[in-house]
Amino acid sequence: MASAMRWVVGASAPLIERFSATKPGLESRATHVNDDRRDPWNEYRRNRRLFLYSWLGFVPGVFVIGLVLTRLFRSELPSYVVAFSWLSIGAIAWLRMTVFSCPGCGRPFFYTSWHFHNPFATHCVHCGLRKWSNPAEQNTPTPGT
Ligand SMILES: [Zn+2]
Repeated sequence: MASAMRWVVGASAPLIERFSATKPGLESRATHVNDDRRDPWNEYRRNRRLFLYSWLGFVPGVFVIGLVLTRLFRSELPSYVVAFSWLSIGAIAWLRMTVFSCPGCGRPFFYTSWHFHNPFATHCVHCGLRKWSNPAEQNTPTPGT
């Protein structure tokens, strides 16, 4: 791997090691990408967090930003734009959270049809997979069995 890296980059090994030692963020970012692929719930977590922040931060966020923009532009129109944008981001996060596909069966985790929707479901409404569980880890046979 190191020789391939040297061939691709065209640099010597000590230079690559020195570069990665001075840039620790590169390794952690690479690990983050790998974790993202391994845990299918990361996208759901991200959207849930975005929805909660947008919901909890709507009043103080729009108030502060709206106040600054109103004084800056001497108009209330920017405040309405900020409020609408903030609500749109929250609505998109909520939508993405609710249409999250089950990592086990690939169908929507929280709803079966347009009239049956359970955002607090602890198991997949289709296959019964437990929330936060990884089907890839459950189905992997343990060595020696
Ligand atoms: Zn499922």
